[in-house]
This record gives sequence, structure tokens and C-alpha cells, in this order.
Amino acid sequence: MECSTVIVGGGVVGLSLAMNLANLEGRGEDICVFESKYLGYGSSLRNAGRFRVHFGDERNLEFAIKASEYLESLTKLTGMNSLFTRTGYLWIASDESSYNTLKSANSLFKKWNVPLEEIPPEELYRKYPYLRKRDEVIAGFFGKQNGSIHPDSVIFGLEKKARKLGVRIAEYSPVETIEIRNDKVVSAISRGVKVSTERVVIANGAWMKSFSEALGLGIPIEPVRKEIAITEPFSFEISPFIVDSSLHLYFSQTLKGEIIGSTTLGNEPRGLVEFGNSFLWLKTYAQRLSKALKGASMLRIIRTWSGYYEMTPDRSHIMGRSKDWPEGLYALGGFSGHGFMLGPFAGKVMAEYLFTGKMSNLMVPYSPDRFKEGKKLEETFVIG
Ligand SMILES: Cc1cc2nc3c(=O)[nH]c(=O)nc-3n(C[C@H](O)[C@H](O)[C@H](O)COP(=O)(O)OP(=O)(O)OC[C@H]3O[C@@H](n4cnc5c(N)ncnc54)[C@H](O)[C@@H]3O)c2cc1C
Repeated sequence: MECSTVIVGGGVVGLSLAMNLANLEGRGEDICVFESKYLGYGSSLRNAGRFRVHFGDERNLEFAIKASEYLESLTKLTGMNSLFTRTGYLWIASDESSYNTLKSANSLFKKWNVPLEEIPPEELYRKYPYLRKRDEVIAGFFGKQNGSIHPDSVIFGLEKKARKLGVRIAEYSPVETIEIRNDKVVSAISRGVKVSTERVVIANGAWMKSFSEALGLGIPIEPVRKEIAITEPFSFEISPFIVDSSLHLYFSQTLKGEIIGSTTLGNEPRGLVEFGNSFLWLKTYAQRLSKALKGASMLRIIRTWSGYYEMTPDRSHIMGRSKDWPEGLYALGGFSGHGFMLGPFAGKVMAEYLFTGKMSNLMVPYSPDRFKEGKKLEETFVIG
């Protein structure tokens, strides 16, 4: 078997890369996506489906603004409605430190024309009457530019379009080995089948570090398991995504009416631990949600699940290749909990780079070499 490009991983990142590359090259049959389980099995079908433009690092902010525009165009590009809505994010600052962080980040946001609206407490409770009043709340900050997309629609839309363009997608087909000869990629092996190729893009999210260890690539991505829950649906009231950093809580309502949300305990298991949920997490989430949302104690949680955040040391993603890697090897991942919003656009930017050989300015800061070159992009706006 032969493929000009092998993509390891069928999450949102691998699928977007495949679709965009097939679009540019016009020969989708040359592109092969290998997924060890089913498409979206990793974090891509386990997330909250939210996007935002507001990041602490200016390069991430610029990337996210462009990524949100790309998300908006997905329905047209894939032919499947991604249920894109800009219903906003509402940050609740209930301690001095969160307040000061949001206030000072707002000068950067204003520079990029995506300001947050600061809302004093009285107005906050008038505008969002379902929020439980808490004396410690200093202000709300509303970002109308942010919103939601539906993970299923995005994944299956990308799959549908990629297949239409001829991309070969193999599920339940883990890539076991990448063969290197004379410092060049020559093949990938999946389920014992050798696939000759000149180019492999590793896009397997939380599995990237362990997968690339045998190749000695030293990609610093650490999986951190995150839990999440959904309640039974009720009439739609809560349109923004609400983030309360002092309660370590986020929640919102889906279009169907369920409350989807999570809390962090601060001791989330690291590494490729089994997916699962703990009673302590569920109890803490229910207690914190009840503190923030009126009537929450009456809600029934119908499902809990977990997935990995794929964390890099600076909480920003990795794109491209190190100059020390064998020719033909590339990586795209480490989105540190932001991959659903940034991944589709990152797939497009990476496809353009592979097709033209020219790296866009947007991609330059995300080199895997930045860690050893002291050029980290320290991102402080991580939710969950
Ligand atoms: C609870 C939770 C909530 C989140 N909420 C949001 C959110 O609201 N917004 C947002 O932007 N992001 C969110 N995220 C993060 C987001 O889901 C991820 O960053 C994103 O899905 C990563 O996509 P990916 O394609 O890089 O990785 P994945 O989706 O994990 O895909 C990698 C794939 O590679 C496959 N694989 C692994 N090894 C191999 C191999 N050897 N061969 C072939 N295939 C292999 C895996 O099976 C997996 O399907 C959340 C994550 C979690 C866990």
C-alpha cells in the first residue's frame, strides 16, 4: 500500500488536516488517515464544544480569532451544519486575582477589537437572573465573540467531506511503527500492513508523547484526565458559557437544554490513565454548580464521562517539525484543552504549509523547537 501522506489520529485535528490537504492537492486518495479506535474516540468527541477568541498570549489570541472565523465557515465547507453560535462567554470574577487578570487582559483584547464587557454585580444579576447571588462577586466579564459548535457535527462533517475528496480513512487501525531509513520516513505500519510514504503527520493528541518516544522525538505532551457531566434537559435559558475561576467551575446549556459543565479538583490524574469518573468529582461538581446556579440542586445528572487535555509545558500547541527530526516527520497537537476550537484552523494552516512548503507567520511561533530554544508561549487562559 502507498500513501503520499499518512496522518496518525482521526480526531478533529487529523481530519481537518486531511480534508484541507486533499482540497489543495486535488488527490485525496494519496492521503491516508489511521485511527486506532473510531473517529473522534480521543478528546474530539468528549469535549464541551465551546470556542473563544480570548487568550492571554497575543499570538494565541490572533490564532484564535482566525480559528473562530474558520469554525464559522465549516458548515459551508463540509456541507454539514456545525451548529455554530456566538452566544458568548461570561467570566465571573469573585476574587481580586481573577478580576485583575481579566481587567488587564482586556487592554490586549481591546487592541484586537474583541473587548470584554465589564458588568458590575447588580447588572450581572439583572441580566442573568438564574445566577445565584454571591457577596464575593466583584464583576462579570462578557465576551460576545465566543460561542459553541457541535462536536458530532464537526467530526462527521469533516469526515464526510474528506471521504468525498477521496481521502482513505482506516478506523480500528493503529499506526504501530514509523520506519526511518537514512534519516528519512519511508513507511508506516498499521496492523502489520506496511504503507510506503514520504510523509507522516503525527496528530494523535494525548497519545503523541508515548507514540513518538520510540522515534526519540521528545514531544512534551502530558495527558491530564478531565471529567465532565450533562444533566437532563430543561427549557433554554442559559445562553453564555459561564466560567467561575474561584469555584473552578464552568457550565453552559446545550441547544437541547442540558447543562453541560465541569469542575477541577486540582489533582486530576496525569498520563494515559483509564477513562472514568469519581464520586468525589461528581459530588464537588454538584456542590459548586449549586453555589453558582439557582435550582441546580434539583437537576438530574444523566451522564458523566472523561477525556484528556493534551498539555504542553506552555499550554500552547505544537505545529510543524523540529530541525533535528528525520525528514518527512511532522507533528500537530498539544492543544492543551483548546483543540476543538483551534484544531480545525490549525489543520488548514498546516495543510497549506505541507502543500506550499512555506510557513505562514501564524504558524512560526508553534515550532516544537521552541521549548529548547527558550521561546515558550506561556498561556494563562486555560479553563478547566
Ligand atoms: C472534558 C473536556 C472538555 C473539553 N472542552 C473543550 C472545549 O469546549 N473546546 C475546545 O476547543 N476543546 C475542548 N477540549 C479539548 C479538545 O477536545 C481537544 O483539545 C481536541 O479534541 C484534540 O483533538 P486532537 O485531534 O488533537 O486529538 P484527539 O481528538 O484526542 O484525537 C487523537 C486520536 O488519535 C488516535 N490515536 C492515538 N494513537 C494512535 C495511533 N498510534 N494510531 C492511530 N491513531 C491513534 C486516538 O484514538 C484519537 O482518536 C476538551 C477536552 C476535554 C477532555
